[in-house]
Amino acid sequence: MNTGILQKELHTKWIGRQTLAFHEIDSTNDEAFRRAGNGAEEGLLVMADFQTKGKGRKGRSWDSVSGGNIAMSILLRPDISPSAAPRLTLVMALACAEGIKEASGILTGIKWPNDIVVKGKKICGILTEMKVCGADPPEIVIGVGINVNTEGFPEEIRDRAASLFLESGKKQSCERVMASILERFEKYYAVFLKTGTLAELKDNYDQACVNNGRRVCVMDPKGQYEAEAVGINEKGELLIIRDDGSMDSVYAGEVSVRGIYGYA
Ligand code: ATP
Repeated sequence: MNTGILQKELHTKWIGRQTLAFHEIDSTNDEAFRRAGNGAEEGLLVMADFQTKGKGRKGRSWDSVSGGNIAMSILLRPDISPSAAPRLTLVMALACAEGIKEASGILTGIKWPNDIVVKGKKICGILTEMKVCGADPPEIVIGVGINVNTEGFPEEIRDRAASLFLESGKKQSCERVMASILERFEKYYAVFLKTGTLAELKDNYDQACVNNGRRVCVMDPKGQYEAEAVGINEKGELLIIRDDGSMDSVYAGEVSVRGIYGYA
């Protein structure tokens, strides 16, 4: 990652005003929280070529397969209720899908709530973490891992992982992809903050979401079942129609979804 090129490409007002670039780090999310603890300002951008302990949801891991990929985190201190914070994952997912399209021309979709997929394989994962201290606004870090120039994946994830390079046959500029995503995120974040909900972003998210109108397997800790996904609500929950015709909403904190015939 070249910070000089990034600064030239990046046209944001406040995201990335302070940028820290590492060749290798444990986790860009963890580093952003460490810096937050030392008073770093909102919009801090942490990026790394390799993460030794990249994180996924629910204790899973995100693998840095080779160089030439994106691992980045941004620090936010929004004045919102902590219960609204997970919605920022969906705001970032929308920014990623659109930013990747703008920078590389590759059309991707969102697998609710936090993964970006291309032809059913995962190209990008997003992890939002939060720390709440008394009545202060929560400290929120959103981490994004994108397989940009990976040429091949280890056996364990080969069947479900993709990269922009494998999809397009061309090396892509990480800096350009990052800049496009962060510019969009900054814009959508302002829209989100007006209400603390996805009310104004929902239609765009629904259009990009690959689950909509399809059967999904809902992996609820209380039991797994199939249903039809029909979109999200303002809270970012996935709306589903169960086989008895009843409508329900599922909350991302507890639940994952899979396609019936594969990952997405
Ligand atoms: P969910 O639907 O709950 O988000 P998920 O399996 O996509 O489930 P995440 O926490 O989003 O889980 O991401 C972590 C998972 O992503 C890992 O368990 C692994 O299967 C997969 N993974 C890890 N590294 C990569 C990578 N570089 N590219 C694609 N997939 C990866």
